[in-house]
Amino acid sequence: MNQKLILDFENKIDCEVPMTMDTIPLSKESSFSQWQQEIPKEYFNLTSEEINYKINTAKKKLGDNVIILGHHYQREDVIKFADQIGDSYALSLYAARNHKTPFIIFCGVHFMAEAADILSSNSQHILLPNLEAGCSLADMANKPDVGSAWNQLTKQFKEKYKIIPITYINSPATLKAFCGENDGIVCTSSNADKVIKWAFEKGDKVFFFPDQHLGRNTSHKLGIKDESIALWDWRKKENKLGGNTITQIEKSKVILWDGFCSVHQRFTISQINQARIQYPKIQIVVHPECSSEVANASDAVGSTAFIADYVSNAPNNSIIGIGTEINLVSRLAKENPNKKVFCLDSVVCPCSTMYRVHPAYLLWILESLLDKKIVNKISVDDDTKKFAKIALERMIEVS
Ligand code: SF4
Repeated sequence: MNQKLILDFENKIDCEVPMTMDTIPLSKESSFSQWQQEIPKEYFNLTSEEINYKINTAKKKLGDNVIILGHHYQREDVIKFADQIGDSYALSLYAARNHKTPFIIFCGVHFMAEAADILSSNSQHILLPNLEAGCSLADMANKPDVGSAWNQLTKQFKEKYKIIPITYINSPATLKAFCGENDGIVCTSSNADKVIKWAFEKGDKVFFFPDQHLGRNTSHKLGIKDESIALWDWRKKENKLGGNTITQIEKSKVILWDGFCSVHQRFTISQINQARIQYPKIQIVVHPECSSEVANASDAVGSTAFIADYVSNAPNNSIIGIGTEINLVSRLAKENPNKKVFCLDSVVCPCSTMYRVHPAYLLWILESLLDKKIVNKISVDDDTKKFAKIALERMIEVS
């Protein structure tokens, strides 16, 4: 995993360092035992001040050789070091367009770093601070299961219908490659409507994975009714059409994989009802990974970028209840002090996998680069990269 680097960094530095007292030492994080352990012991007990100082110092020394990307859901004590903040679409576009910076540190989860590796140039290195930072939604679909479903669908229906596979960007590179190889495409929550429209220009049916809720909410937005949507239960054995009859698939325009995000599935109608009773003038905005019942009961539905714009464009004194990950909601509340902004789920859980990027891991990556070592490099193999890139570039063209 570690490689020697040939880089010429300055050895001396004089920097002023902003301090923030909000980081618990890595060894005291309650879930640390499940996180990537092969990090040198010297990083385990660093205080918040030490980590802040060292990260700022390392960043200054590395200069233009490094850029740090931060997903909106990242914890505050990591996002403050990001040079670019965005959702997975914005950050993958950034990786596709910036072919200069040799080291891109992706403070996000595994599939995002893979997408950046696919879209960046061969001379760039994508580094993920903690290799255990995955996505439970992305883990709900894999190549063997999707391949088996695809074989059943094409065997049964290929004479009558052209089926277009669409994978949400929250998926492994192998599924992006699968779509690239089979006339399909990738989407994000920012562009799923455009992508599904594109698919219906190319074919008769859409096979959408892994997030059923994004697929269903977007289908509804495009006027596709529930009668024309099938749910594919990937736990069913071979040749069971995912629990559907031939007639059900025949009359479906969209076939959805039975996957979901554990964070967004927590939002409920009763939370929305309670918020409306408490604040009659409230506006409710939720992410499309929430269920369609929750989306239908809200005033607006959109991606993380959409939610951020919605809050910043709302007039002062607005009351806004949000259905998405708590780190983004807290940040929006802080950035909009003249509005009341809160998370609909009072017992909020952050994205626990995203949370694994403790700043001590970021520091380890940066200081390793100063030592001319690359750690936690994300490399997608060439074959997968070739086809995954086709599917991602189709998406960028459509958006
Ligand atoms: S919030 Fe949900 S979809 Fe997003 S990274 Fe976390 S688990 Fe995955």
